[in-house]
Amino acid sequence: MHFSKEDCLKFVEENDVRFIRLQFTDIFGRMKNIAITDKQLSNAFENGIMFDGSSVAGFAGVEASDMLLFPNPETFTVMPWRPQQGKVARIICDIKKHDGTQFEGDPRYILKRTLQKAEQLGYVFQVGPECEFFLFHTDDEGRPTTITHDTASYCDLAPIDLGENARREMCLTLEEMGFEIEASHHESATGQHEIDFRYTDALTAADNIMTFKLVVKIMAQHNGLHATFMPKPLPGVSGSGMHINMSLTQDGINLFDKDKEEDQSDISDTAKQFAAGLLKHIKGITAIANPLVNSYKRLTPGFEAPVHIAWAPMNRSPLLRVPTPRGEGTRLELRSPDPTCNPYLTLALLLEAGLEGLNKGLKLPKPVNVNIYNLSPQQEKRLKIDRLPSNLFVALEEMKKDQLIRSTVGDHIFNKYYSAKMSEWEDYDNAIHPWEINKYLKSF
Ligand code: GLU
Ligand code: MG
Ligand code: MG
Repeated sequence: MHFSKEDCLKFVEENDVRFIRLQFTDIFGRMKNIAITDKQLSNAFENGIMFDGSSVAGFAGVEASDMLLFPNPETFTVMPWRPQQGKVARIICDIKKHDGTQFEGDPRYILKRTLQKAEQLGYVFQVGPECEFFLFHTDDEGRPTTITHDTASYCDLAPIDLGENARREMCLTLEEMGFEIEASHHESATGQHEIDFRYTDALTAADNIMTFKLVVKIMAQHNGLHATFMPKPLPGVSGSGMHINMSLTQDGINLFDKDKEEDQSDISDTAKQFAAGLLKHIKGITAIANPLVNSYKRLTPGFEAPVHIAWAPMNRSPLLRVPTPRGEGTRLELRSPDPTCNPYLTLALLLEAGLEGLNKGLKLPKPVNVNIYNLSPQQEKRLKIDRLPSNLFVALEEMKKDQLIRSTVGDHIFNKYYSAKMSEWEDYDNAIHPWEINKYLKSF
């Protein structure tokens, strides 16, 4: 269902669509929208719809605040949960400055720009994300809590709460919106779930991640629950990741698959060089792929989330894994990103890092086939295994050191992102946390 402008206008007219949500994503990965009525759609396609860019964090100063949204017709889809009489549709937009030139702070543009580079080389970047999230109860006033009555664990059936129904509605709604849902299951922690949808080209995948998070939150609310993508809402149990499965195709052929004549369990040199690029730049990418103070509480040993910069076939303890399927399904699975990241920026950076690996023919180190969480510091040193940044501050320092990050996301996003995240870190660092009060107030 890839609509042209004319298809959109015809569909709106014939199917009683009364409102169109013009959606975009800010640099911090939050979805925003402006609703227009059906009568305005044709004008929106021609002239764009004005909005105040100075009121969106990380966008523009008041002096250049008028900005324009231009809808991409191929992203048109009806929001199935809104009234069916006087329907509501959404379209994902490009963002232009008031003079009609490209706004360099639009994360979707950054991804498109990187994808064009890959396209010129004949590559299509294919991405399959695995989004995890928690479903919690709300209190009497409807505010989210961290309480769940669900006692289930990995792949369990019928948790003793409303999670199963909510997950069913999420899957069905996403299917109505054109997603191909592959699988959904209860995850390891109580109240934790995962829904996987089929891999697509990276731009569609990033759009899908944004839509996915919206649908999950709304369907949870319909079931009296609160869905959160916060990476580590509960101590002592698994957090929520968003593993990114990646491959490059050329003329429909998966370039990560190894020639059939040779060892079938191996991956191609292209895959190895791409992986080497990822490992080289992952420290700098982490501030974008793991954007919250809380993100780093997930990246701790023992919960199937990575801490070490290493790769292996299958092993779930390092950063990068090669899942078993071969042929069309051959892929790299990067396990560090979490679902609060801006998917457009994250995917742009992963592709740039991978392409650098190919360009420079980077060498992949040996795989680490042991449970990496159990290595002693001496073993880590001997095997030359480095670690991911341990907190947001360290990640931001790494981001500043790595030129690839700035050149991929551009000066505007780099500067706004860095300063906003540094002040988020300082805010956290200056706060007195309940843990400190519990630990010290009485004893000292
Ligand atoms: N929840 C784990 C994480 O934080 C991943 C579990 C899995 O392998 O699906 O990344
Ligand atoms: Mg999972
Ligand atoms: Mg996975």
